Amino acid sequence: AKNSGRGQYRQFEKVMDESLRTRQQMATDLRQALVNFDGLRVWYQPLMEISGQRVVGLEALLRWQHPVRGDVSPGDFIAIAEETGMIITLGEWVLREACKTSLKLPQVIVAVNVSPVQFRASGFVERIVEIVREEGANPHHMELEITEGVLIEDEHEARNNIIALREAGFRIALDDFGTGYSSLNYLSTFPVDKIKIDRSFTQSLGVAQNSAAIVESVVRLGHAMGLTVTAEGVETEGQKVALADAGCNQLQGYLFSQAVPFEEIEKMV
Ligand code: C2E
Ligand code: CA
Ligand code: CA
Ligand code: CA
Repeated sequence: AKNSGRGQYRQFEKVMDESLRTRQQMATDLRQALVNFDGLRVWYQPLMEISGQRVVGLEALLRWQHPVRGDVSPGDFIAIAEETGMIITLGEWVLREACKTSLKLPQVIVAVNVSPVQFRASGFVERIVEIVREEGANPHHMELEITEGVLIEDEHEARNNIIALREAGFRIALDDFGTGYSSLNYLSTFPVDKIKIDRSFTQSLGVAQNSAAIVESVVRLGHAMGLTVTAEGVETEGQKVALADAGCNQLQGYLFSQAVPFEEIEKMV
């Protein structure tokens, strides 16, 4: 038994080595991709007005086609980009792309995800404002999606950043709402414009008991604070109906469309 334990441990070490090597290789490849953004694309997923009939916004979502591995999920490479600091360059590039799209489609709001690592970097607000000005886009047509992760370290600075961005005209959405440890607390401290109910709540509708009551109270709370409420991860007609009944303002999910290239989203808007 002792030997087999040791054997298992060696096996474990080998797996760890491999995954570490894979990550290091991915980091090297991502750095290479960033030289001229080869294989990197920004795709867009529509945000629908509650009827599901009209596109009111677009979320910019990064895509990376690795030269050997093919499509790598942002769930995998964003973390690497954050650990290595490459998310700063990557995030600024996504913002520039989103600005170009906003100029072409001024009838909708274009939303961009902001990593907590970007958000906490010094001069973050100034960089965002400068990039949007350079691209000639209108901050009033843009939304920045942040998560509770921005809170870690300096709550005071996070609040100041949000206030400064809103003063510059940007809308702020609180992403993945309900998944953090302090969502409600966050709402009372941070002046955001929108909450995006996490897809885990959407997908529990009609499955878990009380899920409709939870969603309803989040919507009521959001509205009481003057916020727009969007639900993420809408995949079924049943979820759509339940969310409309709960009073949600906007819907996003595969029921309407996945993220698609600009040429396709342009036709939906
Ligand atoms: P997120 O910001 O919560 O984005 C929503 C994710 O849910 C996207 O995954 C989207 O494709 C997926 N999704 C949308 N509708 C549905 C649905 O109905 N069902 C299901 N199962 N999934 C749905 P994606 O594109 O793989 O992105 C994953 C995460 O990676 C994003 O989560 C975001 O945190 C991060 N990410 C993506 N692009 C960027 C970016 O440009 N910058 C930063 N900082 N993070 C990004
Ligand atoms: Ca998001
Ligand atoms: Ca989300
Ligand atoms: Ca998420």
